[in-house]
Amino acid sequence: MGPTNIALVQLYQADMALREAQGRLEAATKNVRIQERRVRDLEQKLSGLQQALREHQTQAAQLELDIKTRDARIERLRGQQQTAKNNKEYQAFLVEINTEKVDRAKAEEQALKIMEQVERGQVEIKELAAHLEGEKTKLQTMKDQMGDTVATLQAEIEGLRPARNEAAAAVPAKALTAFERLADRFEGEALSALSKPDRRREEYVCTACMMDLVTDVYNKLHMRDDLIFCPSCHRILYIPDELPPEAAVNKKKTPREKPAGDVPGATTRRQESAVDVLKSMTPEEPEVQNAAETSEEGHG
Ligand SMILES: [Zn+2]
Repeated sequence: MGPTNIALVQLYQADMALREAQGRLEAATKNVRIQERRVRDLEQKLSGLQQALREHQTQAAQLELDIKTRDARIERLRGQQQTAKNNKEYQAFLVEINTEKVDRAKAEEQALKIMEQVERGQVEIKELAAHLEGEKTKLQTMKDQMGDTVATLQAEIEGLRPARNEAAAAVPAKALTAFERLADRFEGEALSALSKPDRRREEYVCTACMMDLVTDVYNKLHMRDDLIFCPSCHRILYIPDELPPEAAVNKKKTPREKPAGDVPGATTRRQESAVDVLKSMTPEEPEVQNAAETSEEGHG
């Protein structure tokens, strides 16, 4: 592969190593984050209950004041009633007193309801606060227990970052843009290795999506430095270490379609000719049966 593709593979490997380390930190801290959210939710709920309690207490205080004011007014009216000059005036005070009493009763009824709510709220708050304390303790224990683990994982991430940055700096800008875009889209899996599922056939597939690729994809990647994208999943294709030209390019079954870079003559040419096969009969030749079949055809 050319320098761009080689740099891309190095970036891909460094980037994946960094992503994996980040994934390990995320997995290790997942339970702590869940617990943190639980504590936060409980705190919010508690604060809501406390606010409602304060509002109810204010309402209760206002109603209490209202009742006291009416009591005082009733007291005053009774005094005035005692000094009424005539029955008409006496009756007028009586009506006023009764109206105050009705309003006082209404306020008292309301105050009772509010006080019930206040008491209920206080119980709820007490229970919730105790529950919250328990969850907070649990969170602190979890944090204490994993403090070392997190520090180790964070150090690992920081240790991998320079290699990733260095590898990125070695990739030409245009290829880097393509890489970053694909890495974002495929959670880091921007590249996909070629594979040759059947070693006897010159057929390649994209290992990410398992789609068949055109036969000359190997040679294009091997001989040139262009970015080649999988036509199906659009990842950048590359040749993995385990697929060197001698393993990738078929020399036995496709003599007519000789791939570029193959040395003419040698093994391929020898197998084409039955006579040559018989003449040479090299001991390391494994396809004895094939050679025999070919020889019969050659005679006929
Ligand atoms: Zn693909």
